[in-house]
Amino acid sequence: MKEKQWKRLSVQSVMLLVCVLVFGFFYSGDFPGSSGRTVLADDIPDKIVSEDLADLDDEIYVSDTGMGEAPIHASVSTLKERSHTYIKLVEDKIATGAALYIRNDYINKSVSLTINETSEKDFSINNIVRYNKGKTISGKAAKKNKSDFLRNISVRSLKLKSGNYRVIVDIKTKKLYESCLYEIKGEYYISFAEPHKLYDKIVVIDAGHGGIDEGTSSIDKKYHEKDYTLFIVQEIKKLLDKSDIKAYYTRLDDRYVSKLDRTRLANNLKADLFISIHCNASDKGDTTAYGVEALYSARCVNGASITNKRLARLLMNNVAEKTDNRKRGIIKREGLYLLHHADVPTSIVEVGYMTNKSDLKCIRGKLNRKKMATGIYDAIEKAIDTAS
Ligand SMILES: [Zn+2]
Repeated sequence: MKEKQWKRLSVQSVMLLVCVLVFGFFYSGDFPGSSGRTVLADDIPDKIVSEDLADLDDEIYVSDTGMGEAPIHASVSTLKERSHTYIKLVEDKIATGAALYIRNDYINKSVSLTINETSEKDFSINNIVRYNKGKTISGKAAKKNKSDFLRNISVRSLKLKSGNYRVIVDIKTKKLYESCLYEIKGEYYISFAEPHKLYDKIVVIDAGHGGIDEGTSSIDKKYHEKDYTLFIVQEIKKLLDKSDIKAYYTRLDDRYVSKLDRTRLANNLKADLFISIHCNASDKGDTTAYGVEALYSARCVNGASITNKRLARLLMNNVAEKTDNRKRGIIKREGLYLLHHADVPTSIVEVGYMTNKSDLKCIRGKLNRKKMATGIYDAIEKAIDTAS
């Protein structure tokens, strides 16, 4: 071997050794998120700790979207009235002073329980007992056991700088449930109720697009559909919150949600209505098209007391009337994902054209978007009246 080759070989060996050492250093650490293990915050690089804590804080403090819930003080009879399906947390595993929260994730049919600032580090799935219609189940989720309503259950914990722990229990259910956390005489329970057993009428409101999917935009690309659909949905929520109609939302912030997830939410909830809100755009630089449209599929929905076509007409009429805009009409569209895959009464309402100057001016006006929300809310009320 020549001198040059020797040199190259020795350089390569040193590099390999460095790689092995670096890999070994990282691999030996317990990384956050590894299920069932306690992560000692002091043992892992600072960057990961702070990122992980930021994520967890987001999960906890989401009460502004109506999804983070603190315990409700109740009695056993209240719990059983609400549901015959519930879990109980073994009492002595939750140290006093710990704060408990749950977050329902309806799209993923799951609920996460956070036990914050607990001094108990050994919380495991064995500290959770579940009851379903008189049957008691514990341990791992039993997929084949019909009495078990869980798909999966896992526990992670993180050591906090205070010396206490944050325990997160991820519970995935077989069906979509509405969960509620109770404190009954110092003990904690989570109930799992089927939404239609709690609520007479259920609607799913979908703010079109979101996150990386901006939807359509104005000709100058300054304004994006996803922002306006979200605003309108937040306004509809204010109206629905005051009504006795229960609503679920595919998103209440700027996030990406797949069409599959949006449709699944409506189907899993067996919603009475599924309404998707969009802004329109015309092709090839045509700026003349304007007005309100609603899209529907002629597909028959089993057991529904309102047709997709009637729902579309109600939406189009009410939004156009409220905003003094042109009724462009209702359009049968069979190929659109949402319309094709939803098994509940569904319509897509296009509140105006972002490619038209006067429609864009209307959409950009906050007051007009509030009027659009009122129009959609009125259509929901009329559609539900028709149905009942
Ligand atoms: Zn759209």
